[in-house]
Amino acid sequence: MTDNLNIPPYKIKMVEPINLIPKKERQAALKRAGYNLFALRSEEVFIDLLTDSGTNAMSDNQWAGIMSGDESYAGSRNFFHLKDTVQDIFNYSYMVPAHQGRGAEQVLFPLLVDKDNYALSNMHFDTTKAHVELAGGKAKNFIIEEALNTDQYHPFKGNFDLNKMEKFIQTEGKNNISVIIITITCNSAGGQPVSMDNIRKVSSIAKKYDIPIIMDAARFAENAFFIKSREQGYEDKSIKDIIREMFSYTDAFTMSAKKDAIVNIGGMIGIKDDENLYNQIRSKTIPMEGFPTYGGLAGRDLEAISRGLQEGIQYPYLKHRINQISLLGKKLLDNQIPVQYPVGGHAVFVDAKKLLPHIPFNQFPAQALANELYLEGGIRGVEIGSLLLGRDPESKKQLKSPFEFLRLTIPRRVYTDAHLNFTAESLINIKSRIGQIKGLKFSYEPEILRHFTARLKPISS
Ligand SMILES: *Cc1c(COP(=O)(O)O)cnc(C)c1O
Repeated sequence: MTDNLNIPPYKIKMVEPINLIPKKERQAALKRAGYNLFALRSEEVFIDLLTDSGTNAMSDNQWAGIMSGDESYAGSRNFFHLKDTVQDIFNYSYMVPAHQGRGAEQVLFPLLVDKDNYALSNMHFDTTKAHVELAGGKAKNFIIEEALNTDQYHPFKGNFDLNKMEKFIQTEGKNNISVIIITITCNSAGGQPVSMDNIRKVSSIAKKYDIPIIMDAARFAENAFFIKSREQGYEDKSIKDIIREMFSYTDAFTMSAKKDAIVNIGGMIGIKDDENLYNQIRSKTIPMEGFPTYGGLAGRDLEAISRGLQEGIQYPYLKHRINQISLLGKKLLDNQIPVQYPVGGHAVFVDAKKLLPHIPFNQFPAQALANELYLEGGIRGVEIGSLLLGRDPESKKQLKSPFEFLRLTIPRRVYTDAHLNFTAESLINIKSRIGQIKGLKFSYEPEILRHFTARLKPISS
């Protein structure tokens, strides 16, 4: 009888007050922020759904681990605990910590990506694309067509279009392809999972053409949960067995521990068995991130990651988390707010292209919607669309993103269903005045990763 209730498998031991500031103050804050929610002060936000990155609530067990940090410059016991944890969960022999995911990328990518060569992915995450380009490479995405249609059901919208990718490799020549990157879950397509079958086939293409293959592994546990719940033959496998199989098909991973490892800071590079690559990574880590047994982190952070990795692969935890997000998505869909369907792992992605058809892509409809939601309920979401995508590096033309999403990202173990219901109600309230929302233009536009620091203003008609 209680099966339909989504009960958290934890209780709350510590709280942090939040406050909804008056509407007038929200209006002033938004203006001061240049209509860019990244420039708000967190006290100006009531419910913060900007990101699930580093915003997680750690457990009592993780906080206890913080107290047993070994802050030795070299050979910290917390490093060896993390190395053993990585061996246990991923079955990878080597691990080098980094201060966060992009720290891992800045070390690994220049070792893999050659100048003017391609990196192929289902969909590059923004920092991943930036590191491919900083290494002189070109980022190319091969997400399946179904992912682009937000109302079409597909259990694994993060999958690669295998034929399209293989044709590309044949046309360009395998020597012009540096690496294949599998992003799990596929963040930019809506936190959408990649199936085991697809991972296996991407891996056999990589082997056939002798191209190294890596996992962009931020949400590896959520991806494994979707495989267990949606892919035939995996119903009865444990999350850990699924993870081990997923990672058996790749050579290395970069990971932001700020997501599924349920910590506030950290990242790492995992290497399956290539000792030579491991040694190159270690040498490069020293000048960039720090000595390779700490990699830009404190010993206590390494301990919190080890414990968080084990907590983050527990089935009851994953079930509650994924359910929480899918319930938010369902409430929006039931009220005719279009979202990427089925709802993915870490967030609900509202389809602003459909909801605000009067705002063209180059006036950033999802950003305009994000700003309106902040005014309505003090809720901070984030644009995943043309503002994030940026300009063509050569022609400098604004690129047209296949999606214009407002991402409502759910931090792990932080908000209750009541917070998420308030979020849904706020969006539903906006619907009646949606046609009055105005597009945006730049008043300041930085060149790289512009969405973080850009300033915008509404276009008055
Ligand atoms: C967050 C993320 C990164 C970058 O990690 P940071 O810890 O934010 O530097 C890379 N890839 C994916 C898929 C991510 O979600």
